Amino acid sequence: KKQITRLPEWLKTPVPVGENFKKIKNDLRGLNLHTVCEEARCPNISDCWGGSSKSAATATIMLMGDTCTRGCRFCSVKTSKAPPPLDPHEPEHTAEALSRWGLGYVVLTSVDRDDLVDGGARHFAETIRKIKQKAPTMLVEALTGDYAGDLEMVKMVATSGLDVYAHNIETVEALTPFVRDRRAKFRQSLAVLKAAKEAKEGLITKTSIMLGLGEKEEQIYDALRELRKVDVDVVTFGQYMRPTKRHMKVEEYITPAAFELWRQRALDMGFLYCASGPLVRSSYKAGEAFIENVLK
Ligand code: SF4
Ligand code: SF4
Repeated sequence: KKQITRLPEWLKTPVPVGENFKKIKNDLRGLNLHTVCEEARCPNISDCWGGSSKSAATATIMLMGDTCTRGCRFCSVKTSKAPPPLDPHEPEHTAEALSRWGLGYVVLTSVDRDDLVDGGARHFAETIRKIKQKAPTMLVEALTGDYAGDLEMVKMVATSGLDVYAHNIETVEALTPFVRDRRAKFRQSLAVLKAAKEAKEGLITKTSIMLGLGEKEEQIYDALRELRKVDVDVVTFGQYMRPTKRHMKVEEYITPAAFELWRQRALDMGFLYCASGPLVRSSYKAGEAFIENVLK
């Protein structure tokens, strides 16, 4: 098979600029928050932080440390069986910093903590409650793991005051065992999304799929149908990018036109909205999308 070595033109991105971007970057200094946007050098940072206004600007914050108990084959986060303990002050400090920052939309995410009895669900829920106390107008999205299928933990997070519950299936069912950690299962992820949706009336649920891992068109359709069956509202599609040579290789670079086609298909299948493009990540311009599609 031919090795793909060069990036297509559409994956090369300019250096971030813009007034809103600079302002947010300045605000962030001294708040002691770790954004995935900066740490992963996300190419969308000027779109997300720059947003159409500060109330629509989105950033993604990482909770519960930088070491994961799982090892997915597409992900570059550090792995350990026993990561350092949680910082008990993190919920308070995060809420305090975010309320001072005055951002419109925040995505909270975390590593998976299979080493903790509750998978970190209490800590996550506590952080959301504190944010909503200190900054009631800030929209909060939680992007969580599967809590090893413990749906009580899912419900605890889903009822903590958040606006959007996100959990990523990452890929189609057939590829799941080759892409995600062996403890992550396609059906288990569907159960998580279903439990979140049922836990709170009006809660928006969301998931994300990477393309370019060798998935077939029919398998993507199947995944979308399964997601609709459990009333998932939002789906995003992005290109899989190999973080290092030790990770899975890219099977295919999907064209921008093909991404647009998947966006249309998802909308036709009844998803409330869909972001789809080579550089789209699950949190891509999430604030703007929420304001335009849910609040209106
Ligand atoms: Fe940050 Fe997500 Fe936007 Fe990237 S896509 S800049 S990680 S909010
Ligand atoms: Fe990365 Fe999440 Fe998998 Fe952990 S569970 S290895 S953070 S994708």
